[in-house]
Amino acid sequence: MQKGNIGITTENIFPVIKKFLYSDHEIFLREIVANAVDATQKLKTLAAKGECPGELGDLTISIKLDAEAGTLTVSDRGIGMTAEEVDKYINQIAFSGANDFLEKYKDDANAIIGHFGLGFYSSFMVAKQVEIFTRSYKEGAVGAHWTCDGSPAYELGECNKAERGTDIVLHIDDENKDFLEKSKVEGLLRKYCSFLPIPVALGNKTEWKDGQQVETDEPNVINDTTPLWTKTPSTLKDEDYKSFYRQLYPMSDEPLFWIHLNVDYPFNLTGVLYFPRIKSNIEIHRNKIQLYCNQVFVTDQVENIVPEFLTLLHGVIDSPDIPLNVSRSYLQSDANVKKISTYITKKVCDRLQGIFKNDRADFEQKWDDLKLFIHYGLLSQPDFYDKAKNFALLKDVDGKSFTYDEYRDLIKATQTDKDGNLIYLYATDSEAQYSYIEAARAKGYSILNMDGQLDSPLVGMLEQKFEKCRFSRVDGDTIDRLIQKDENKGEELAADEAERLTGIFNAVLPKLDKVEFHVETRAMGEETAPVVITQSEYMRRMKEMSQLQAGMSFYGEMPDMMGLVLNSDHRLVKGVLTDAASLNEQLQPMEADLRGLNARRQVMEQAQRDKKSEEITQEERDELTKTNNEISEKQNQKKEILAAYAKGNQVVSQLIDIALLQNGLLRGEALSKFLRRSIDMIK
Ligand code: ADP
Repeated sequence: MQKGNIGITTENIFPVIKKFLYSDHEIFLREIVANAVDATQKLKTLAAKGECPGELGDLTISIKLDAEAGTLTVSDRGIGMTAEEVDKYINQIAFSGANDFLEKYKDDANAIIGHFGLGFYSSFMVAKQVEIFTRSYKEGAVGAHWTCDGSPAYELGECNKAERGTDIVLHIDDENKDFLEKSKVEGLLRKYCSFLPIPVALGNKTEWKDGQQVETDEPNVINDTTPLWTKTPSTLKDEDYKSFYRQLYPMSDEPLFWIHLNVDYPFNLTGVLYFPRIKSNIEIHRNKIQLYCNQVFVTDQVENIVPEFLTLLHGVIDSPDIPLNVSRSYLQSDANVKKISTYITKKVCDRLQGIFKNDRADFEQKWDDLKLFIHYGLLSQPDFYDKAKNFALLKDVDGKSFTYDEYRDLIKATQTDKDGNLIYLYATDSEAQYSYIEAARAKGYSILNMDGQLDSPLVGMLEQKFEKCRFSRVDGDTIDRLIQKDENKGEELAADEAERLTGIFNAVLPKLDKVEFHVETRAMGEETAPVVITQSEYMRRMKEMSQLQAGMSFYGEMPDMMGLVLNSDHRLVKGVLTDAASLNEQLQPMEADLRGLNARRQVMEQAQRDKKSEEITQEERDELTKTNNEISEKQNQKKEILAAYAKGNQVVSQLIDIALLQNGLLRGEALSKFLRRSIDMIK
């Protein structure tokens, strides 16, 4: 009987394991079963070379729970170990700088385990004592028995073991009794071991007999030893991929399509990635890619391994070349991981490009489910744009699809403004913006539908990427201002008249919470609506961005900037102006005075501007102040006259309310007033 201390430099490794790995302690099962799989595969390799005496027999790895004895036992029929090997592989785990490393990676169980080769020792996270009964495959080998109670002291001796292989017996400690429950262990095996290449059985299958569950003779095998991604693509049918998807995600809709990954140089990677249907909400679709290492489940947190937007995909990646013995943050800079990430991105692009080219109708049909994913890629992955720009689609409000190039060619002739900018018109809500869409259509313009979750940042990005272009929402301004052309239009009003009109409309404009209106007149043609409400594109975008980005809440607090544009060509607006001629007697002298005062002010201001500050006399200063006061006094008088008039003119209120109503801005008391007024006006 050999006794000794396990050869580690740290005084006592077990408290360390328990402490640092506590949160993740269920992975002990993965580690022990993975060792059993390794030992079994080594045996198969030896057998293939003719170096294994005797029959292989049934190689199923079995897991047995004994609640009474408090043990969980993992048994394999692999190569086993001689006593010397136990000494070498189990006792002398050597590592250095342990404390530093643990301090650095204390939150990362995978890194710690990988770094130290602590797989086997992770069993002490849940066990107060661990025993190994093992017998090597070598001819004439005798059984070895190793036991350790969680202190660095171990015992190693002989034992009688009839069969080749290894039994690892964990005496589960009191805090972890749940690992003796079948349902718990079965759940863990399904999580970590579902696709291991050697059959793994948890006890035997049970069946209902005479009203109770009884055990059968058949081992309760947990895993599928040849999962889909390990098979040759040419042997697989669509249905195989779909059924594997259902196996992985029983609750999900059918995938759109998939990619079978298979490389062995310069790194080794297999897997299947599925494009799920993503209608909205990116968050809930994340973390559906499972990462395996030789069919052993490692994690479903694959960020840092694949580009962020690809974490929206579903499926499986299996690679022994992804280093697990490093911290997550280090992964990104690992050369292999970079290559893998580039490879996957390329495959995804090729696949999308392929479908687009070979079956455009199919691609267009799937676009709505794909676009969130593609837009996310465009926005988050700079090099993705160069590839995706060839198959990314724009849809107009009628549901017709175009590539970026096609759409540019479509609108180039009609939607280039007088300065040579190409104007992309878009709507974010075809219902609410209906009248604006109609106005744009009447001009022969095309309008894009941009109602997607990521369309607002996308618009900003495309504006940067496309040459000499601007995106404008259809209600950003009146249509002839959105796309300005050199054409002769109706005559604009004289300043006095324009001021009268804006004064009249301003006077009865209802106060809206967090909305600020700028009222102006414009000759928009007799056919255009009398009053049009517009919303400043710039402010709207800033406000939208403030919702997505921190540090911009300032914009979120600002009122909406809206324009109330009075169409001076429309008969009703003209009518208001004609009707207001009754105010001429009062207004004309005021307007004349104002003209005089304004001219005086201009002269004075100009004179003062030409002088240095100290050269301006107090007299001159006082004179300017006086003039300014007179102007605002006169303006106020004028305002009052216009306001009194406006209150008595139902048409003005009616026109404003109709415009507000059209934009969903007429509510509550204002709405009810409008309705009453409308009824009164019916003759
Ligand atoms: P790793 O598996 O990372 O090498 P472990 O601590 O899990 O580290 O195991 C140490 C070594 O012990 C293994 O490399 C293997 O040689 C041996 N070993 C562990 N479990 C078994 C087993 N079930 N059968 C045969 N050898 C085993």
